[in-house]
Amino acid sequence: MHILIADDTQTDRLLLGEYVKKFGYIPIYAINGQDAVAQFKRFRPDLLIFDVEMPTLNGYEAAKEIRATCNAEEDWVPIIFLSSHIDDESIVRGIDSGGDDYLTKPVSLVVLKAKIDAMRRIAMMHNKLIDMGNQLRIANQNLLATNMLLSDLSLTDPLTGAANRRAFEECIERESRSVLRRGTTLALLMIDIDNFKQYNDNNGHLMGDTCLRTVAKAIAHQLKRPTDVLARYGGEEFAVILPDTTLEGAKHLAEILRQAIENLRVEDRGKDVQGLVTVSIGISCSETNVPFTTNSLVNSADTALYQAKHEGKNRVVLSVFSLSMPADAQFKAINL
Ligand code: GH3
Ligand code: MG
Ligand code: MG
Ligand code: MG
Repeated sequence: MHILIADDTQTDRLLLGEYVKKFGYIPIYAINGQDAVAQFKRFRPDLLIFDVEMPTLNGYEAAKEIRATCNAEEDWVPIIFLSSHIDDESIVRGIDSGGDDYLTKPVSLVVLKAKIDAMRRIAMMHNKLIDMGNQLRIANQNLLATNMLLSDLSLTDPLTGAANRRAFEECIERESRSVLRRGTTLALLMIDIDNFKQYNDNNGHLMGDTCLRTVAKAIAHQLKRPTDVLARYGGEEFAVILPDTTLEGAKHLAEILRQAIENLRVEDRGKDVQGLVTVSIGISCSETNVPFTTNSLVNSADTALYQAKHEGKNRVVLSVFSLSMPADAQFKAINL
């Protein structure tokens, strides 16, 4: 342990140094207040013993400056004043300026050792607390990171990396409220891979999985707005949530997506048939300032998708079903 002794009286300083050596510690010397601050910055000693009356800066001023340069909580170093002033006011000033103890000259060897040992014990406990605080902080950061990862995992489809069904439900609810609040519209695409059962039968389940990943990636690649969300809605069915998008805009994007999947030219090699992987897409869209339920939006897009399948697959069908009507209201679909 290094102890900084600041005293302008050489005999006092050296005598104190001898004591410190006798206790088994290493003394560092400063000849005035300013020197004390400089030596402190240079050596970062473990304990400071300051005389009060010193030139340039007195002991109080030096202590204040040292406390001001350190982060008081983390960088605490015990300061003991050693002075010939024995009045109460000097003691109070010493503690107020950042000192931890105040001894009067001449000090007995035994008392000085006891005080240094006590300060050392407090410093050790302090350091231990700081260590524990740091460990807690790190553990807390790890916990936060793990929680974020878990939260991501709980909302992500592991096969495709798209949002999972749960995330889809949360997102569509949130966006429905948001577009109504802002007076815009919400569009939804339901995308289903055509003849995927046959693709699995022909190419195996593993190739089927790869195909799902490829299709998801191709869709995600075409989504340009950060608010657009791709979700895996079911086995080979994807949903794309398009906030602030009109029916026209959704139709335009759906056709791009359909084309992009076809352009992937993922071959389905069967015994009898050879074809390319394609998708059918059903679209629904809310109307400006007309309240709707997420169920009606999903049902409407689903019905349009069903229509697309019915009409021969690999196509986009637009629902013009009014979402404000009761769920069993008439459905009208337009084949693009
Ligand atoms: P349609 O054109 O009418 O949509 O016919 P389809 O064969 O695509 O539809 P169907 O609902 O009959 O079959 C869907 C298939 O998707 C059946 C199932 O084995 C497959 N599937 C669902 N989830 C997965 C998956 O995670 N991996 C793989 N490889 N296949 C899946
Ligand atoms: Mg002095
Ligand atoms: Mg299908
Ligand atoms: Mg399906």
